[in-house]
Amino acid sequence: MATKSFDVTVIGGGPGGYVAAIRAAQLGASVLLVEKDQLGGTCLNRGCIPTKAMLADAKLYHQVKASTVLDAKNVRVNMEKLLERKGGVVKTLRSGVGLLVKNNGITLVTGRATFLDPRTVEVESDKGKEQFKSSKTIIATGSVSAQLGRGRQGHPHEHGNAQPFNRSKRPHCHRRRLHWNGVRLSLQRTRVECDGH
Ligand SMILES: Cc1cc2nc3c(=O)[nH]c(=O)nc-3n(C[C@H](O)[C@H](O)[C@H](O)COP(=O)(O)OP(=O)(O)OC[C@H]3O[C@@H](n4cnc5c(N)ncnc54)[C@H](O)[C@@H]3O)c2cc1C
Repeated sequence: MATKSFDVTVIGGGPGGYVAAIRAAQLGASVLLVEKDQLGGTCLNRGCIPTKAMLADAKLYHQVKASTVLDAKNVRVNMEKLLERKGGVVKTLRSGVGLLVKNNGITLVTGRATFLDPRTVEVESDKGKEQFKSSKTIIATGSVSAQLGRGRQGHPHEHGNAQPFNRSKRPHCHRRRLHWNGVRLSLQRTRVECDGH
């Protein structure tokens, strides 16, 4: 198996990884960026960006509902359209990151990276396994949330940060007063909850 060599390997294409890769390339290094899923990581695909896109629509909805000059009795949220818009925002920004990576001459490889030794990374993808050598490696693989205590995991009202916001139907809520217009984005706890919880 032929092994390609780079000055720097960056594992993880989230905001930590792709920014580091771009900076290293701008400083003259040959850079390999390995991402096992999608460029942009949690922030762009499941975190900051989709939540803000949905929040903007939720704010608009509440402004219209609360207006004293608009007749907004029958205003409804079209969840399918909302998710479509959110998906479009994410897609546009992701392709922007892809362009930045490409324009900075970074080699992007899609697959899961593991270390064979401190200077050799193996990337496993649908196409098979490839090995890459570099004198420096930046590990920017993100984090996962810890589960606090017992009983909350799998709670019907909670959706952990690994789950994309793709529900076009109202979540299963026991309380009658819960509505989609009551979806609350709780960034501190990084989860979506039904209002009232
Ligand atoms: C719902 C939500 C809302 C958020 N809102 C905000 C906000 O408003 N503002 C803010 O500042 N932050 C926000 N965050 C936090 C933000 O998303 C993270 O701080 C940020 O994504 C961390 O970036 P990162 O590059 O370290 O990790 P990540 O974005 O998680 O990227 C890591 C990448 O590494 C890849 N990877 C992991 N292991 C491997 C491997 N072995 N091989 C190849 N690739 C691998 C993963 O696929 C992933 O793409 C939010 C998070 C969530 C969940």
